Amino acid sequence: MTRIRNFIDGQFVEPMGGKYLDNIEPATGQPYSQVADSDARDVERAIAAAEKAFPAWSKTPAAERSRLLLRIADLIERDLEKLARAESIDTGKPLSLARSLDIPRAASNFRFFATAILHTENEAHVTDGVAFNYTLRQPRGITGLISPWNLPLYLLSWKIAPALAVGNTAIAKPSELTPMTALLLCEICVEAGLPNGVLNIVHGTGPNVGAAITAHPKIGTISFTGGTVTGRKVAEAAAPLFKKVSLELGGKNPNIVFADADLDAAIAGSVRSSFANQGQVCLCGSRVFVERSAYQNFVERFIDKVSQLKQGDPLDEKTEQGAIVSKTQLDKVRFYVDLAQKEGGTVALGGKVPDSINERCRDGYFFPPTVLTDLPVSCRTNREEIFGPVVTITPFDSEEEVIGYANDCDYGLASSVWTQNLSRAHRVAEKIHTGTVWVNCWLVRDLRVPFGGMKQSGVGREGGEEALRFFTEAKNVCIAK
Ligand code: NAP
Repeated sequence: MTRIRNFIDGQFVEPMGGKYLDNIEPATGQPYSQVADSDARDVERAIAAAEKAFPAWSKTPAAERSRLLLRIADLIERDLEKLARAESIDTGKPLSLARSLDIPRAASNFRFFATAILHTENEAHVTDGVAFNYTLRQPRGITGLISPWNLPLYLLSWKIAPALAVGNTAIAKPSELTPMTALLLCEICVEAGLPNGVLNIVHGTGPNVGAAITAHPKIGTISFTGGTVTGRKVAEAAAPLFKKVSLELGGKNPNIVFADADLDAAIAGSVRSSFANQGQVCLCGSRVFVERSAYQNFVERFIDKVSQLKQGDPLDEKTEQGAIVSKTQLDKVRFYVDLAQKEGGTVALGGKVPDSINERCRDGYFFPPTVLTDLPVSCRTNREEIFGPVVTITPFDSEEEVIGYANDCDYGLASSVWTQNLSRAHRVAEKIHTGTVWVNCWLVRDLRVPFGGMKQSGVGREGGEEALRFFTEAKNVCIAK
């Protein structure tokens, strides 16, 4: 059985405490590898390596940093099949999804930031003829990068690529539930020739490793993606040390369908935005609102399409719905489906653990795509993040009413609006309190745009220029005339 060790100073090393955790394959419920159960001592060791590597890496010319990161992108693409399979086994997501989305997007992250650093500009300001100012952007030092299990390689690379591109060193902690692609990425970094200590990966639990990273005074920059409850703990640990923190947190995203929408496109888009990766994408539109005159038609056709999604072994090429990442997450999904019924909801589709997938997957964590109707907008099922294959559908009567519904939520990550009325699209987009508003689409990404959440979905923005600025310190140099 593979033992996933820490990657520190360019070497694969045992955790100081010698302990490992079982890494469970969600589709089978069985351990298929072991991952280092590290602690603060391993974080300390990684900090020593990152500190040693920083002076040379931060002074390495941008063109050379760019060349190394592009090499990593090339190697990710070369190993696409191997990485996609590892991601599918680790997370339970369909192999086809890992192959078409997660892994190519991870390569794009490296490629984007590797080339972005070749095109940056520094601002200059002349002050009333008495002085000349210029803005010097410098790397911040050792960065702490903490990521969740749902898109493990994609989200890890979304942080590692900009942090390293601008000259920082990094200590990254993937989720202990999905460490396999991080191991493969480290092997790629070695092959690419990334200098030792520039990237260090410490595996283990949030309370042991994550907390040690966020609390350490030598790590002045924290980029965290995960749940809102954990994000609060990260913020609390970082605040007294005045760390620079970016928090990308949970969502309960509205997906609004007006009667004037192209219904074929809206239904196809809504099926995807509801159930991609078994609904375990922070951007999934788990609250669907449909204008009353189109409601009945939409619900019938939506349910028909969803019932055709093929649930199965994630490694089967035809599978469209794989496994839920863990037993804990599966129990959470079941809890909310029970709660929804207590809150007056109707299970219009799904709602029960399937009898069997196949012999290999008989102990796996599966739950079918589930559609809930007849729930009040303000109930817990409609307000709390479930993070699974469960959506609610609610009718509305006016633009004003649905904007109120969309905003009546503590989260503000993303939303989708389906309409053919251009003025309405602009109007609604302006009034919805989410960091991203997709109009007649979902999950379209341009790496140049700011990405992040409003309200309890987070603070700070990642993506493009925002990420380059987050990972650098802007210093003003003022020269008297
Ligand atoms: P999570 O439980 O908050 O964990 C996220 C990461 O934080 C994991 O690596 C976790 O470690 C670590 N962690 C746990 N406790 C910690 C602590 N006290 N200090 C520092 N780190 C700690 O989230 P998850 O269940 O993995 O992921 C699902 C959540 O992520 C959902 O809420 C989803 O919406 C959100 N998400 C947001 C975005 C976005 O861009 N806004 C993207 C994807 C996912 P271990 O799990 O290994 O213990």
